[in-house]
Amino acid sequence: MATIATAADAPLKDMDEWDDFLTGRYKAGKTEEEFRQYDEQATPGGAGIYRQNHKYQTFDYEKAKQKEYFGLNKGEKSIWEAAEFLNTLVDDSDPDTDLTQIEHLLQTSEAIRKDGHPRWFVLTGFIHDLGKVLCLWGEPQWGVVGDTFPVGCAYSDQIVFPEYFKANPDYNNPLYQTKYGIYEPNCGLDKVHMSFGHDGYIGEVMKNYLPEESLYMLRYHSFYAAHRHGAYRHLMSNHDVEMFEWVNKFNPYDLYSKGHTKPDLKQLKPYYDDLFAEFFPAKIAW
Ligand code: FE
Ligand code: FE
Repeated sequence: MATIATAADAPLKDMDEWDDFLTGRYKAGKTEEEFRQYDEQATPGGAGIYRQNHKYQTFDYEKAKQKEYFGLNKGEKSIWEAAEFLNTLVDDSDPDTDLTQIEHLLQTSEAIRKDGHPRWFVLTGFIHDLGKVLCLWGEPQWGVVGDTFPVGCAYSDQIVFPEYFKANPDYNNPLYQTKYGIYEPNCGLDKVHMSFGHDGYIGEVMKNYLPEESLYMLRYHSFYAAHRHGAYRHLMSNHDVEMFEWVNKFNPYDLYSKGHTKPDLKQLKPYYDDLFAEFFPAKIAW
């Protein structure tokens, strides 16, 4: 089994810590003010990953990573193979209590299924974090998880720990620090470069297979500034705003399905075999 990024500056013992941070931050019923207080008292791990994420996610970094990964030249894998590959990413310090990556995916998709949503929505729940395989190809945690945000324009103060952007080289580039930066008003998010991470990557992997609503959920599920705090409407088109209803619909399943009973993979497998066969060929490009 592989542990994740052991680079000296890796702040988290595992990526789930970031998910736990999000769950704590967005605990149901919290006010905006309480979100902020939570950020201030956040766990060192939660704050640490944002410090690096906000420092290193520049416009040029995003462009380089997009070039590296969006050609999908990492080989072909079935959905199960990708999920099992992701599952090799574990927290060695506490292997018994944490959910495996597949269990997080199944808890999300099963919660969606229980609520009677369409099959593509259930499928979206299962695949939404498969982009975290980026970690297994050597990408640092701060380049895989963490809230995503537009690069190439001013940072919203609705992004968690906005003060950390002062360490980002783009912070001192006047071209990137106006409200619209390099973009046109309401140009639409498809024209906007988002910080690199597991969302954009999985959206790219899935773009030929899933409906647009699903692709929005995949691409923007970590774009909390927009889907939870309403920021960046000045870059979004009317169509984006409509589609974000789906992103909002998805978010509670991602955040709050944890902690329910452990899904029984063996029992659930036939359902998911059918589901994958309905949308995908045997193997797809990653
Ligand atoms: Fe995610
Ligand atoms: Fe998730």
